[in-house]
Amino acid sequence: MTLISNHMPTEELQRLDAAHHMHPFTAGAELNARGVRVITQAKGVTLTDSDGKEIFDAMAGLWCVNIGYGREELAQVAARQMNQLPYYNTFFQTTHVPVIALSKRLADLAPGDLNHVFYAGSGSEANDTNIRLVRHYWAAKGKPDKKVIISRRNAYHGSTLGGASLGGMQAMHAQGGLPIPDIAYIDQPNWYAEGGDSSPEDFGLERARQLEAKIAELGEDNVAAFIAEPVQGAGGVIIPPSTYWPELQRICDAHEILLIVDEVICGFGRTGNWFGSETYGIRPDIMTIAKGLSSGYQPIGGSLICDEVADVVNNAGDFNHGYTYSGHPVAAAVALENLRILDEENIVTNVRDVTGPYLAEKWAQLADHPLIGEAKIVGMMGSVAMTPDKSARAPFSSDPGVVGTICRENCFANGLIMRHVGDRMIISPPLIVTKSDIDTMMRLVVKSLDQTYASVKADGLLNAA
Ligand SMILES: *Cc1c(COP(=O)(O)O)cnc(C)c1O
Repeated sequence: MTLISNHMPTEELQRLDAAHHMHPFTAGAELNARGVRVITQAKGVTLTDSDGKEIFDAMAGLWCVNIGYGREELAQVAARQMNQLPYYNTFFQTTHVPVIALSKRLADLAPGDLNHVFYAGSGSEANDTNIRLVRHYWAAKGKPDKKVIISRRNAYHGSTLGGASLGGMQAMHAQGGLPIPDIAYIDQPNWYAEGGDSSPEDFGLERARQLEAKIAELGEDNVAAFIAEPVQGAGGVIIPPSTYWPELQRICDAHEILLIVDEVICGFGRTGNWFGSETYGIRPDIMTIAKGLSSGYQPIGGSLICDEVADVVNNAGDFNHGYTYSGHPVAAAVALENLRILDEENIVTNVRDVTGPYLAEKWAQLADHPLIGEAKIVGMMGSVAMTPDKSARAPFSSDPGVVGTICRENCFANGLIMRHVGDRMIISPPLIVTKSDIDTMMRLVVKSLDQTYASVKADGLLNAA
Protein backbone atom coordinates (compact mmCIF):
# COMPACT_ATOMS: atom_id res chain seq x y z
CA MET A 1 0.00 0.00 0.00
CA THR A 2 1.33 3.41 -0.94
CA LEU A 3 -0.47 5.64 1.50
CA ILE A 4 1.13 9.03 1.17
CA SER A 5 0.80 10.01 4.81
CA ASN A 6 4.17 11.67 5.31
CA HIS A 7 3.01 14.73 3.44
CA MET A 8 4.03 18.31 4.10
CA PRO A 9 2.11 20.42 6.63
CA THR A 10 -1.30 21.49 5.38
CA GLU A 11 -0.30 25.14 5.13
CA GLU A 12 2.63 24.28 2.88
CA LEU A 13 0.44 22.11 0.64
CA GLN A 14 -2.07 24.95 0.42
CA ARG A 15 0.66 27.43 -0.45
CA LEU A 16 1.99 25.24 -3.25
CA ASP A 17 -1.50 24.53 -4.57
CA ALA A 18 -2.28 28.24 -4.65
CA ALA A 19 1.00 28.95 -6.43
CA HIS A 20 0.71 26.34 -9.18
CA HIS A 21 -2.67 24.65 -9.43
CA MET A 22 -5.67 26.19 -11.19
CA HIS A 23 -8.97 24.59 -10.13
CA PRO A 24 -12.02 23.83 -12.32
CA PHE A 25 -15.20 25.87 -11.78
CA THR A 26 -13.47 27.95 -9.10
CA ALA A 27 -12.72 31.62 -8.42
CA GLY A 28 -8.99 31.04 -8.06
CA ALA A 29 -7.94 34.13 -6.11
CA GLU A 30 -10.71 33.67 -3.56
CA LEU A 31 -9.83 30.01 -3.00
CA ASN A 32 -6.12 30.75 -2.78
CA ALA A 33 -6.79 33.41 -0.15
CA ARG A 34 -8.82 31.11 2.08
CA GLY A 35 -6.75 27.94 1.57
CA VAL A 36 -7.84 24.79 -0.20
CA ARG A 37 -8.94 21.59 1.56
CA VAL A 38 -6.46 18.76 0.95
CA ILE A 39 -7.90 15.24 0.77
CA THR A 40 -5.34 12.58 1.54
CA GLN A 41 -7.25 9.30 1.64
CA ALA A 42 -10.66 7.70 1.52
CA LYS A 43 -12.35 4.45 2.45
CA GLY A 44 -15.95 3.41 1.87
CA VAL A 45 -18.01 6.62 2.14
CA THR A 46 -15.46 8.56 4.20
CA LEU A 47 -12.80 11.02 3.11
CA THR A 48 -9.89 12.07 5.30
CA ASP A 49 -8.22 15.46 4.90
CA SER A 50 -4.64 16.47 5.59
CA ASP A 51 -5.50 17.43 9.18
CA GLY A 52 -6.97 13.98 9.82
CA LYS A 53 -10.56 15.22 9.79
CA GLU A 54 -13.08 12.68 8.50
CA ILE A 55 -15.81 13.77 6.08
CA PHE A 56 -18.91 11.86 4.94
CA ASP A 57 -18.90 12.13 1.16
CA ALA A 58 -22.57 12.46 0.25
CA MET A 59 -21.59 13.39 -3.33
CA ALA A 60 -19.55 10.25 -4.17
CA GLY A 61 -16.76 12.53 -5.40
CA LEU A 62 -18.43 14.12 -8.42
CA TRP A 63 -21.36 11.69 -8.63
CA CYS A 64 -19.01 8.93 -9.63
CA VAL A 65 -17.63 6.75 -6.83
CA ASN A 66 -20.57 4.35 -7.01
CA ILE A 67 -18.83 1.39 -5.34
CA GLY A 68 -17.23 3.57 -2.66
CA TYR A 69 -13.58 4.30 -2.00
CA GLY A 70 -10.72 1.93 -1.35
CA ARG A 71 -11.62 -1.21 -3.29
CA GLU A 72 -8.36 -3.15 -3.54
CA GLU A 73 -9.61 -5.24 -6.47
CA LEU A 74 -9.58 -2.24 -8.79
CA ALA A 75 -6.06 -1.31 -7.77
CA GLN A 76 -4.90 -4.87 -8.39
CA VAL A 77 -6.58 -5.07 -11.79
CA ALA A 78 -4.98 -1.76 -12.78
CA ALA A 79 -1.53 -2.93 -11.67
CA ARG A 80 -1.87 -6.24 -13.51
CA GLN A 81 -3.02 -4.51 -16.69
CA MET A 82 -0.22 -1.95 -16.51
CA ASN A 83 2.29 -4.76 -16.34
CA GLN A 84 0.76 -6.72 -19.20
CA LEU A 85 -0.21 -3.94 -21.61
CA PRO A 86 -0.21 -0.41 -20.14
CA TYR A 87 -1.25 1.25 -23.37
CA TYR A 88 -2.04 0.62 -26.93
CA ASN A 89 -4.31 2.56 -29.25
CA THR A 90 -7.40 1.34 -31.04
CA PHE A 91 -6.93 3.50 -34.14
CA PHE A 92 -4.76 1.49 -36.49
CA GLN A 93 -6.74 -1.68 -37.08
CA THR A 94 -5.81 -2.93 -33.63
CA THR A 95 -7.65 -3.76 -30.46
CA HIS A 96 -6.89 -5.39 -27.11
CA VAL A 97 -8.56 -7.80 -24.72
CA PRO A 98 -9.81 -5.37 -22.01
CA VAL A 99 -11.63 -3.16 -24.52
CA ILE A 100 -13.23 -6.18 -26.20
CA ALA A 101 -14.39 -7.57 -22.86
CA LEU A 102 -15.76 -4.23 -21.67
CA SER A 103 -17.60 -3.59 -24.94
CA LYS A 104 -19.29 -6.99 -24.78
CA ARG A 105 -20.24 -6.40 -21.12
CA LEU A 106 -21.70 -2.96 -21.86
CA ALA A 107 -23.67 -4.28 -24.84
CA ASP A 108 -25.16 -6.94 -22.55
CA LEU A 109 -26.00 -4.45 -19.80
CA ALA A 110 -27.43 -1.71 -21.98
CA PRO A 111 -31.13 -1.72 -22.84
CA GLY A 112 -32.46 -2.30 -26.36
CA ASP A 113 -29.99 -2.66 -29.20
CA LEU A 114 -27.32 -0.34 -27.84
CA ASN A 115 -24.71 -2.86 -28.89
CA HIS A 116 -21.78 -0.68 -29.91
CA VAL A 117 -19.37 1.45 -27.91
CA PHE A 118 -17.23 4.40 -29.00
CA TYR A 119 -14.84 5.25 -26.17
CA ALA A 120 -13.70 8.56 -24.77
CA GLY A 121 -11.76 9.68 -21.74
CA SER A 122 -14.69 11.47 -20.13
CA GLY A 123 -18.36 12.36 -20.42
CA SER A 124 -17.57 15.66 -22.12
CA GLU A 125 -15.51 13.96 -24.80
CA ALA A 126 -18.23 11.37 -25.30
CA ASN A 127 -20.77 14.13 -25.93
CA ASP A 128 -18.36 15.73 -28.40
CA THR A 129 -18.33 12.36 -30.14
CA ASN A 130 -22.13 12.36 -30.14
CA ILE A 131 -22.33 15.74 -31.87
CA ARG A 132 -20.07 14.60 -34.69
CA LEU A 133 -21.57 11.11 -34.80
CA VAL A 134 -25.20 12.15 -35.26
CA ARG A 135 -24.35 14.78 -37.87
CA HIS A 136 -22.13 12.32 -39.73
CA TYR A 137 -24.90 9.70 -39.52
CA TRP A 138 -27.49 11.96 -41.14
CA ALA A 139 -25.01 13.13 -43.79
CA ALA A 140 -24.25 9.49 -44.61
CA LYS A 141 -27.98 8.95 -45.06
CA GLY A 142 -28.08 11.79 -47.58
CA LYS A 143 -29.52 14.34 -45.16
CA PRO A 144 -26.64 16.71 -44.41
CA ASP A 145 -29.04 19.46 -43.32
CA LYS A 146 -30.12 17.46 -40.31
CA LYS A 147 -27.53 18.88 -37.93
CA VAL A 148 -29.28 20.89 -35.21
CA ILE A 149 -29.19 19.26 -31.79
CA ILE A 150 -31.92 20.31 -29.39
CA SER A 151 -31.00 20.44 -25.71
CA ARG A 152 -32.38 22.06 -22.58
CA ARG A 153 -31.66 25.16 -20.57
CA ASN A 154 -29.89 24.29 -17.31
CA ALA A 155 -28.78 20.91 -18.69
CA TYR A 156 -25.20 19.78 -18.06
CA HIS A 157 -23.39 17.82 -20.74
CA GLY A 158 -19.75 18.58 -19.94
CA SER A 159 -17.19 21.32 -20.25
CA THR A 160 -15.49 20.89 -23.64
CA LEU A 161 -16.61 23.29 -26.38
CA GLY A 162 -19.12 20.73 -27.59
CA GLY A 163 -20.26 19.50 -24.20
CA ALA A 164 -20.72 23.00 -22.78
CA SER A 165 -22.59 24.05 -25.93
CA LEU A 166 -24.96 21.12 -25.56
CA GLY A 167 -25.38 22.09 -21.92
CA GLY A 168 -27.70 24.93 -21.13
CA MET A 169 -25.68 26.66 -18.45
CA GLN A 170 -25.69 30.41 -19.03
CA ALA A 171 -22.60 31.03 -16.92
CA MET A 172 -20.65 28.61 -19.11
CA HIS A 173 -21.94 30.04 -22.39
CA ALA A 174 -20.86 33.47 -21.19
CA GLN A 175 -17.18 32.49 -21.28
CA GLY A 176 -15.19 31.52 -24.36
CA GLY A 177 -17.63 32.21 -27.17
CA LEU A 178 -20.23 29.50 -26.73
CA PRO A 179 -22.40 27.88 -27.88
CA ILE A 180 -21.12 26.44 -31.15
CA PRO A 181 -23.57 26.76 -34.09
CA ASP A 182 -26.64 24.58 -34.56
CA ILE A 183 -27.57 23.88 -30.97
CA ALA A 184 -31.10 24.87 -29.88
CA TYR A 185 -32.69 24.88 -26.44
CA ILE A 186 -36.01 24.23 -24.78
CA ASP A 187 -36.93 24.85 -21.13
CA GLN A 188 -36.19 22.43 -18.29
CA PRO A 189 -38.90 20.47 -16.41
CA ASN A 190 -38.24 22.26 -13.11
CA TRP A 191 -41.79 22.46 -11.73
CA TYR A 192 -40.72 23.81 -8.35
CA ALA A 193 -39.04 26.90 -9.79
CA GLU A 194 -40.93 27.43 -13.04
CA GLY A 195 -44.23 25.56 -12.76
CA GLY A 196 -46.30 28.44 -11.42
CA ASP A 197 -49.88 27.42 -10.72
CA SER A 198 -50.00 24.40 -13.04
CA SER A 199 -49.92 20.89 -11.64
CA PRO A 200 -46.60 19.03 -11.97
CA GLU A 201 -48.25 16.65 -14.47
CA ASP A 202 -49.55 19.44 -16.74
CA PHE A 203 -46.27 21.25 -16.46
CA GLY A 204 -44.34 18.10 -17.42
CA LEU A 205 -46.45 17.74 -20.58
CA GLU A 206 -46.07 21.41 -21.44
CA ARG A 207 -42.28 21.31 -21.11
CA ALA A 208 -42.03 18.08 -23.15
CA ARG A 209 -44.20 19.55 -25.89
CA GLN A 210 -41.73 22.39 -26.28
CA LEU A 211 -39.62 19.78 -28.06
CA GLU A 212 -42.33 19.18 -30.66
CA ALA A 213 -42.76 22.93 -31.11
CA LYS A 214 -39.02 23.43 -31.50
CA ILE A 215 -38.80 20.64 -34.10
CA ALA A 216 -41.63 22.30 -36.03
CA GLU A 217 -39.97 25.71 -35.76
CA LEU A 218 -36.58 24.47 -36.99
CA GLY A 219 -38.04 22.04 -39.52
CA GLU A 220 -37.71 18.31 -38.97
CA ASP A 221 -35.31 18.14 -41.93
CA ASN A 222 -32.85 20.28 -40.00
CA VAL A 223 -32.90 18.47 -36.66
CA ALA A 224 -30.43 15.68 -35.97
CA ALA A 225 -31.13 14.81 -32.35
CA PHE A 226 -32.45 15.69 -28.94
CA ILE A 227 -30.20 15.25 -25.90
CA ALA A 228 -31.21 15.09 -22.25
CA GLU A 229 -30.24 13.67 -18.88
CA PRO A 230 -32.92 11.37 -17.40
CA VAL A 231 -32.59 13.49 -14.24
CA GLN A 232 -30.66 16.77 -14.51
CA GLY A 233 -27.75 16.37 -12.12
CA ALA A 234 -25.54 19.44 -12.03
CA GLY A 235 -28.63 21.53 -12.76
CA GLY A 236 -29.77 20.73 -9.21
CA VAL A 237 -31.11 17.15 -9.27
CA ILE A 238 -34.27 18.19 -11.08
CA ILE A 239 -36.51 15.11 -11.02
CA PRO A 240 -39.04 15.54 -13.82
CA PRO A 241 -42.81 15.15 -13.39
CA SER A 242 -44.11 11.66 -14.23
CA THR A 243 -45.66 12.88 -17.49
CA TYR A 244 -42.46 14.30 -18.89
CA TRP A 245 -40.44 11.39 -20.27
CA PRO A 246 -43.34 9.43 -21.81
CA GLU A 247 -44.28 12.54 -23.78
CA LEU A 248 -40.68 13.20 -24.86
CA GLN A 249 -40.39 9.59 -26.00
CA ARG A 250 -43.63 9.89 -27.98
CA ILE A 251 -42.34 13.02 -29.68
CA CYS A 252 -38.97 11.47 -30.53
CA ASP A 253 -40.77 8.41 -31.96
CA ALA A 254 -43.12 10.59 -34.03
CA HIS A 255 -40.31 12.54 -35.68
CA GLU A 256 -37.23 11.48 -37.51
CA ILE A 257 -34.67 12.52 -34.91
CA LEU A 258 -32.25 10.63 -32.71
CA LEU A 259 -32.60 10.53 -28.93
CA ILE A 260 -29.33 10.90 -27.03
CA VAL A 261 -29.73 10.11 -23.34
CA ASP A 262 -26.88 11.45 -21.22
CA GLU A 263 -26.51 8.78 -18.54
CA VAL A 264 -23.19 10.06 -17.21
CA ILE A 265 -24.69 10.45 -13.72
CA CYS A 266 -27.80 8.25 -13.92
CA GLY A 267 -25.96 5.26 -15.40
CA PHE A 268 -24.58 2.36 -13.38
CA GLY A 269 -27.13 2.25 -10.61
CA ARG A 270 -27.62 5.82 -9.48
CA THR A 271 -31.41 5.77 -9.93
CA GLY A 272 -31.87 2.18 -8.67
CA ASN A 273 -31.59 0.54 -12.09
CA TRP A 274 -28.53 0.06 -14.24
CA PHE A 275 -29.61 3.05 -16.33
CA GLY A 276 -31.92 6.01 -15.76
CA SER A 277 -33.49 5.06 -19.08
CA GLU A 278 -34.91 1.96 -17.38
CA THR A 279 -36.23 3.98 -14.43
CA TYR A 280 -38.06 6.36 -16.78
CA GLY A 281 -38.97 4.00 -19.63
CA ILE A 282 -36.76 5.78 -22.18
CA ARG A 283 -35.53 4.12 -25.40
CA PRO A 284 -32.30 5.92 -26.37
CA ASP A 285 -30.62 5.68 -29.76
CA ILE A 286 -27.37 6.78 -28.14
CA MET A 287 -26.35 6.87 -24.50
CA THR A 288 -23.52 8.91 -22.99
CA ILE A 289 -21.67 7.10 -20.20
CA ALA A 290 -18.76 7.98 -17.88
CA LYS A 291 -18.46 8.61 -14.11
CA GLY A 292 -19.96 5.46 -12.49
CA LEU A 293 -18.66 3.33 -15.39
CA SER A 294 -15.36 3.08 -13.49
CA SER A 295 -16.63 4.50 -10.19
CA GLY A 296 -14.14 7.26 -10.95
CA TYR A 297 -11.13 4.99 -10.32
CA GLN A 298 -9.97 5.64 -13.90
CA PRO A 299 -10.99 8.34 -16.39
CA ILE A 300 -13.20 6.68 -19.01
CA GLY A 301 -16.36 7.57 -20.88
CA GLY A 302 -18.10 6.59 -24.06
CA SER A 303 -21.12 6.50 -26.31
CA LEU A 304 -23.35 3.44 -26.43
CA ILE A 305 -24.78 3.32 -29.93
CA CYS A 306 -27.74 1.44 -31.41
CA ASP A 307 -27.42 -1.02 -34.32
CA GLU A 308 -28.92 1.31 -36.94
CA VAL A 309 -26.62 4.26 -36.22
CA ALA A 310 -23.54 2.03 -35.87
CA ASP A 311 -24.39 0.26 -39.15
CA VAL A 312 -24.74 3.46 -41.13
CA VAL A 313 -21.59 4.98 -39.68
CA ASN A 314 -19.60 1.77 -40.13
CA ASN A 315 -20.59 1.71 -43.80
CA ALA A 316 -19.79 5.37 -44.46
CA GLY A 317 -16.01 5.11 -44.73
CA ASP A 318 -13.65 6.54 -42.13
CA PHE A 319 -15.25 8.29 -39.18
CA ASN A 320 -12.55 10.91 -38.72
CA HIS A 321 -12.73 11.09 -34.97
CA GLY A 322 -11.09 9.51 -31.93
CA TYR A 323 -9.01 10.09 -28.85
CA THR A 324 -5.54 8.81 -27.98
CA TYR A 325 -7.10 7.24 -24.91
CA SER A 326 -10.25 5.84 -26.56
CA GLY A 327 -10.65 2.41 -24.96
CA HIS A 328 -7.54 2.75 -22.79
CA PRO A 329 -6.64 -0.77 -21.60
CA VAL A 330 -6.09 0.10 -17.93
CA ALA A 331 -9.28 2.18 -17.76
CA ALA A 332 -11.22 -0.56 -19.56
CA ALA A 333 -9.94 -3.28 -17.20
CA VAL A 334 -10.79 -1.18 -14.15
CA ALA A 335 -14.28 -0.38 -15.51
CA LEU A 336 -14.88 -4.07 -16.10
CA GLU A 337 -13.91 -4.90 -12.52
CA ASN A 338 -16.16 -2.11 -11.25
CA LEU A 339 -19.10 -3.54 -13.22
CA ARG A 340 -18.37 -6.98 -11.78
CA ILE A 341 -18.53 -5.60 -8.24
CA LEU A 342 -21.72 -3.61 -8.91
CA ASP A 343 -23.32 -6.78 -10.28
CA GLU A 344 -22.01 -9.55 -8.03
CA GLU A 345 -22.50 -7.59 -4.83
CA ASN A 346 -26.07 -6.73 -5.87
CA ILE A 347 -25.31 -3.06 -5.33
CA VAL A 348 -27.81 -1.81 -7.92
CA THR A 349 -30.67 -4.03 -6.74
CA ASN A 350 -29.89 -3.10 -3.15
CA VAL A 351 -30.33 0.58 -4.03
CA ARG A 352 -33.59 -0.25 -5.78
CA ASP A 353 -35.09 -2.51 -3.10
CA VAL A 354 -33.47 -1.67 0.23
CA THR A 355 -31.34 1.42 0.74
CA GLY A 356 -33.07 3.59 -1.89
CA PRO A 357 -36.55 3.22 -0.34
CA TYR A 358 -35.06 3.65 3.15
CA LEU A 359 -33.36 6.90 2.16
CA ALA A 360 -36.42 8.10 0.21
CA GLU A 361 -38.56 7.88 3.33
CA LYS A 362 -36.11 9.94 5.39
CA TRP A 363 -35.46 12.41 2.60
CA ALA A 364 -39.17 13.08 2.10
CA GLN A 365 -39.42 14.13 5.76
CA LEU A 366 -37.14 17.09 4.99
CA ALA A 367 -40.13 18.71 3.28
CA ASP A 368 -41.41 19.44 6.81
CA HIS A 369 -38.31 21.45 7.67
CA PRO A 370 -39.04 25.20 7.92
CA LEU A 371 -36.33 26.02 5.36
CA ILE A 372 -37.35 23.44 2.74
CA GLY A 373 -39.87 23.99 -0.04
CA GLU A 374 -39.35 20.73 -1.90
CA ALA A 375 -37.56 17.44 -1.15
CA LYS A 376 -37.16 15.03 -4.07
CA ILE A 377 -35.15 11.87 -4.55
CA VAL A 378 -34.76 8.95 -6.93
CA GLY A 379 -32.46 6.08 -6.00
CA MET A 380 -29.32 7.70 -4.67
CA MET A 381 -29.73 11.21 -6.07
CA GLY A 382 -31.74 13.76 -4.15
CA SER A 383 -32.30 17.47 -3.73
CA VAL A 384 -34.00 19.97 -1.46
CA ALA A 385 -34.97 23.50 -2.43
CA MET A 386 -34.43 26.04 0.34
CA THR A 387 -36.97 28.84 0.56
CA PRO A 388 -38.01 31.74 2.79
CA ASP A 389 -41.68 30.96 2.02
CA LYS A 390 -42.69 27.32 1.61
CA SER A 391 -46.22 27.75 0.33
CA ALA A 392 -45.21 30.28 -2.34
CA ARG A 393 -42.13 28.24 -3.39
CA ALA A 394 -40.42 31.62 -3.28
CA PRO A 395 -36.74 32.25 -3.95
CA PHE A 396 -34.70 34.32 -1.50
CA SER A 397 -34.28 38.04 -2.05
CA SER A 398 -30.51 37.52 -1.78
CA ASP A 399 -28.59 36.48 -4.90
CA PRO A 400 -29.12 32.81 -5.83
CA GLY A 401 -26.49 30.75 -4.05
CA VAL A 402 -25.95 33.02 -1.03
CA VAL A 403 -27.99 30.79 1.28
CA GLY A 404 -26.77 27.70 -0.57
CA THR A 405 -23.17 28.65 0.17
CA ILE A 406 -23.96 29.22 3.85
CA CYS A 407 -25.53 25.77 4.03
CA ARG A 408 -22.63 24.12 2.22
CA GLU A 409 -20.17 25.71 4.66
CA ASN A 410 -22.21 24.37 7.57
CA CYS A 411 -22.11 20.93 5.99
CA PHE A 412 -18.33 21.04 5.62
CA ALA A 413 -17.96 22.17 9.23
CA ASN A 414 -20.13 19.21 10.29
CA GLY A 415 -18.04 16.74 8.29
CA LEU A 416 -20.51 16.32 5.43
CA ILE A 417 -20.05 16.96 1.74
CA MET A 418 -23.39 18.09 0.33
CA ARG A 419 -23.26 20.36 -2.67
CA HIS A 420 -25.33 23.46 -3.44
CA VAL A 421 -26.70 24.48 -6.82
CA GLY A 422 -28.00 27.97 -6.27
CA ASP A 423 -30.14 27.53 -3.17
CA ARG A 424 -30.84 23.84 -3.76
CA MET A 425 -28.82 21.33 -1.75
CA ILE A 426 -28.04 18.06 -3.48
CA ILE A 427 -26.75 14.61 -2.56
CA SER A 428 -25.48 11.69 -4.58
CA PRO A 429 -23.83 9.32 -2.09
CA PRO A 430 -21.87 6.18 -2.97
CA LEU A 431 -24.32 3.39 -3.83
CA ILE A 432 -22.83 1.20 -1.11
CA VAL A 433 -24.25 3.30 1.74
CA THR A 434 -25.82 1.10 4.41
CA LYS A 435 -28.92 1.97 6.41
CA SER A 436 -26.68 3.00 9.27
CA ASP A 437 -24.63 5.22 6.90
CA ILE A 438 -27.90 6.77 5.79
CA ASP A 439 -28.85 7.47 9.41
CA THR A 440 -25.48 9.14 9.97
CA MET A 441 -25.79 11.16 6.79
CA MET A 442 -29.33 12.31 7.54
CA ARG A 443 -28.33 13.42 11.06
CA LEU A 444 -25.63 15.62 9.50
CA VAL A 445 -28.01 16.90 6.81
CA VAL A 446 -30.65 17.92 9.37
CA LYS A 447 -28.07 19.46 11.68
CA SER A 448 -26.67 21.52 8.80
CA LEU A 449 -30.14 22.65 7.66
CA ASP A 450 -31.07 23.61 11.25
CA GLN A 451 -27.92 25.69 11.59
CA THR A 452 -28.52 27.30 8.22
CA TYR A 453 -32.11 28.17 9.12
CA ALA A 454 -31.02 29.72 12.42
CA SER A 455 -28.26 31.83 10.90
CA VAL A 456 -30.25 32.88 7.83
CA LYS A 457 -33.05 33.99 10.15
CA ALA A 458 -30.65 35.81 12.48
CA ASP A 459 -28.95 37.57 9.55
CA GLY A 460 -32.23 38.82 8.09
CA LEU A 461 -31.89 36.68 4.94
CA LEU A 462 -35.21 34.92 5.35
CA ASN A 463 -36.94 37.22 2.88
CA ALA A 464 -38.71 36.32 -0.33
CA ALA A 465 -37.58 37.96 -3.54
C1 LIG B 1 -20.25 15.10 -15.44
C2 LIG B 1 -21.17 15.09 -16.59
C3 LIG B 1 -20.69 15.17 -17.91
C4 LIG B 1 -19.25 15.43 -18.22
O1 LIG B 1 -18.43 14.41 -17.83
P1 LIG B 1 -16.86 14.70 -17.62
O2 LIG B 1 -16.31 13.35 -17.35
O3 LIG B 1 -16.74 15.67 -16.48
O4 LIG B 1 -16.35 15.29 -18.87
C5 LIG B 1 -21.59 15.02 -18.95
N1 LIG B 1 -22.89 14.83 -18.71
C6 LIG B 1 -23.39 14.76 -17.47
C7 LIG B 1 -24.84 14.50 -17.27
C8 LIG B 1 -22.55 14.91 -16.37
O5 LIG B 1 -23.04 14.89 -15.13
